[in-house]
Amino acid sequence: MLRALPLLVVGVCANVFVGLPAVAQSPAELTLTRIDCGTGATPTDVGQRFTDTFAYKDLKLTFTFSCYVIKHGDEYMVWDTGFAPGTNPNAPTVAIADRLKELNVTPEQVKYVGISHFHGDHTGQLEPFKNATLLIGKGDWDGITAPTPMLGANVAGFKSWLAESRKVEPLTADKDVFGDGSVIVLRTPGHTPGHSSLLVRLKDMGPVLLSGDLAHFRENYEGNGVPIFNFDRAATVASIERMKQIAANLKATVVIQHDVRDIAKLPAFPAAAK
Ligand SMILES: [Zn+2]
Repeated sequence: MLRALPLLVVGVCANVFVGLPAVAQSPAELTLTRIDCGTGATPTDVGQRFTDTFAYKDLKLTFTFSCYVIKHGDEYMVWDTGFAPGTNPNAPTVAIADRLKELNVTPEQVKYVGISHFHGDHTGQLEPFKNATLLIGKGDWDGITAPTPMLGANVAGFKSWLAESRKVEPLTADKDVFGDGSVIVLRTPGHTPGHSSLLVRLKDMGPVLLSGDLAHFRENYEGNGVPIFNFDRAATVASIERMKQIAANLKATVVIQHDVRDIAKLPAFPAAAK
């Protein structure tokens, strides 16, 4: 038994050295591009349904609808997919697949499609990403696949995933998408049971937090405001607090996806933040 010990030590040391070249590798290039996924046809009176504390009187805001593509080395991820073009007055006029074409990316190349939550304005264009693994909070996936789907769950948007048994990863914890800490799906439940946000740690711009519908506009983010239709009030407030602490600790740029005032925080398409 004792004679085996030196061999074991040698083995451990060898492993340490085998691990070294990986550390020396340069990190994969990371970029983030916003894709327009629609604009509100009429301004929304946010005092009606977007506050459960009567916080706003006559505050009308035009919502935007944002999708994103992340390039990690030669791998691609799409975050949120908007409404399908032409389906309603807020829907985009150009499909994500066509926008990706302008970036010389095909939908088949997309390895991950992450969605903040199961509502129709985030899940209208999942269909083209047939090779992608769907990253979705488990609470939302359960809401889609339940015998009686949850209220507001856009089951039709997931039709191909269900019919073709495409790859799905229902998330019960944060997800380090590429395994190097550069892109992390964050659990931020409340708006829906499995709501998620996304952290993208860019080299030049620094960390960017994409909100999903954690908050729909700045006033609700800053004041911990909760829409009356959210799934869980306490979870929403806790998730907003989490986001604020991450933003402060990492000095991150917070992009509220539905807020038109946040569009300019990222370069205009087709330019990418790096
Ligand atoms: Zn939304």
